[in-house]
Amino acid sequence: MKIRRYIGKDAQEAMLKVKMDLGSEAVILNTRKIKQKGLLKMFSKPMVEVLAAVDEFYGQKEKNGPFKSEMATPVSDKKVENYNKLDEKEEKLALLENKVNNMENVLQKIYEQVSQDNTKPSPKVQQTEEKQKIKAIELFYNNLLKNEVDGHIAKQIMDVIQSKVSDTSSISDIGAILYKLISGILGKPQTLKLREDGKPTVVIFVGPTGVGKTTTLAKIAAEYSLNHKKKVGLITADTYRIAAVEQLKTYGEILGIPVEVIYSINEINDAMDKFKDKDIILIDTAGRSHRNKTQFDELKMLVEVSSADEVFLVLSTTTGMRNCREILASYSFLKDYKLIFTKLDETPSLGIILNARRLTNKNLSYVTVGQSVPDDIEVANVDKITKKLIGSIS
Ligand code: GDP
Repeated sequence: MKIRRYIGKDAQEAMLKVKMDLGSEAVILNTRKIKQKGLLKMFSKPMVEVLAAVDEFYGQKEKNGPFKSEMATPVSDKKVENYNKLDEKEEKLALLENKVNNMENVLQKIYEQVSQDNTKPSPKVQQTEEKQKIKAIELFYNNLLKNEVDGHIAKQIMDVIQSKVSDTSSISDIGAILYKLISGILGKPQTLKLREDGKPTVVIFVGPTGVGKTTTLAKIAAEYSLNHKKKVGLITADTYRIAAVEQLKTYGEILGIPVEVIYSINEINDAMDKFKDKDIILIDTAGRSHRNKTQFDELKMLVEVSSADEVFLVLSTTTGMRNCREILASYSFLKDYKLIFTKLDETPSLGIILNARRLTNKNLSYVTVGQSVPDDIEVANVDKITKKLIGSIS
């Protein structure tokens, strides 16, 4: 008896392979779904494995069916004689039944053995698997680095992986542990939380110049005013650049949302007073140079005076990590904030998101994926980000 294993992308493909190799007399012993091994394959659809058997002598002897082997011995003359007293029909039935039972038992034994062999690999196979595992861990590590995950953070992650991987872990188990670990670090995104006491929720957007604060603010304003039917007011304190004021006014006009411009911190209370009937007040601020202390003192005051309910620190995923560290350090005066990442459409590497999460422990909120207002914004999708970080970007 020949027992063979066939793998196809679905049952049909696997069965076709069985038929082509063993012919239509082949017996299917078992069918199961299997996860593909390999770094890039572990998230793809499972394959179908078919274990099939056929009589080795099939084709050499008279074709009496597939079960012609040592377990299904052809009925010998001697045996027939033993059944002389039986009715011819009964005799045949008994033999057939016997053959089928025998067959079932033996096939079950063979299948159990094949399965056991799979779980207990030979020392040689074990060695190759061990090597594969080490190689996989290395590849995962390199992918994190390629994604510009900070070297220390990537190393810490891999150390945890090493400590969690056991002898019995397969490569896809390692991938699953890594996925869990990274998605755990990224955490559950927190979106804008509205006050429930009828007072306006005050939200301030801070971050370096050019990262997309004004555009992101406009996207959120549009979302709440158009989709959630909330009354929104916009305030801009970004008066360093005339274009910034004009930009926000233009968005305000398009969305039918009022805009107030403030030139000094003293004016913030008046501006907020004008919006006391609103559900949400969104405040745009000027980008600060993280080396200019006075500008940061001003921003700190603005956050305090406005008694903001929410602060969003807007960062671009196109920012290099060294720069990002400096930026995060200069905004560390903020008690609490949520992270928004912009320009995901412009970069293949998302390491900065993981780095910033790890360094600040502040919640992720939104990500933006293009210049278009209001469409190009979404709640950070941890699953997608994690898969991108684990998968190769080369
Ligand atoms: P601010 O200085 O931080 O207020 O930045 P702006 O909102 O003025 O945006 C700076 C530039 O970045 C503009 O050209 C925006 O259209 C662009 N921008 C903003 N968000 C995104 C995004 O998600 N993807 C891309 N590709 N460009 C963006």
